[in-house]
Amino acid sequence: MINLILLGPPGAGKGTQAKHLVETRGMVQLSTGDMLREAKTSGSAMGRRVAEVMARGDLVTDEIVIGLIEEKITGTAGGGFIFDGFPRTLAQADALGQLLDKAGQRLDAVIAMQVDDAALVARVTGRFTCAACGAVYHDTLHPPRVAGVCDACGSTRFSRRADDTEAALKQRLMEYYKKTSPLIGYYYAKGKLAVVDGLAEMDAVSAMIEKVLDSPN
Ligand code: AMP
Repeated sequence: MINLILLGPPGAGKGTQAKHLVETRGMVQLSTGDMLREAKTSGSAMGRRVAEVMARGDLVTDEIVIGLIEEKITGTAGGGFIFDGFPRTLAQADALGQLLDKAGQRLDAVIAMQVDDAALVARVTGRFTCAACGAVYHDTLHPPRVAGVCDACGSTRFSRRADDTEAALKQRLMEYYKKTSPLIGYYYAKGKLAVVDGLAEMDAVSAMIEKVLDSPN
């Protein structure tokens, strides 16, 4: 069982590639962004607390996301985790190391997906997802084969994220460069880092990721 971190700015393709790995390898996607959005939708106290922070494009506290990840790691048998959007700070990275140790698991690889800022703006501002199965689409770069119908599950309901606006994206990128990008050096120093060109075609990116997973450090 391989445990993997997908690291990269918003719009780099982490969620898309994570979903692919769930399908092809039966891995378990742990997206803190998805968990926080679920908490928001369910109307829990925590969900209400984080809604505004997320809409602005700021990071929520380390304590909250570490708690969410701890629940999943201890409550899910087997591992084969894809950490998607976590860790996002050095404190989260340290906490993840400790949680995996405690669970008798290890981190096998960290894949940094590189995409330049101009491409991120184009990708993020046009993206939407199937409300039923979560498949990711884009107005011009990756529309469904039949307009208004999900390729994967046939649903006709789609949703757009509240923070996929240009203003919120600017703040999310700022947070990424300030707090998350130091993780590239952190994992490089641990000998875990692989870098993938996130601008390549979706299938080509998947192939590069598969290659890393077949020979992790
Ligand atoms: P994402 O879906 O990964 O783009 O995350 C959406 C938003 O959720 C982020 O802009 C943050 O506000 C919050 N978030 C998700 N994951 C984390 C994390 N690991 N640490 C702090 N905030 C997070």
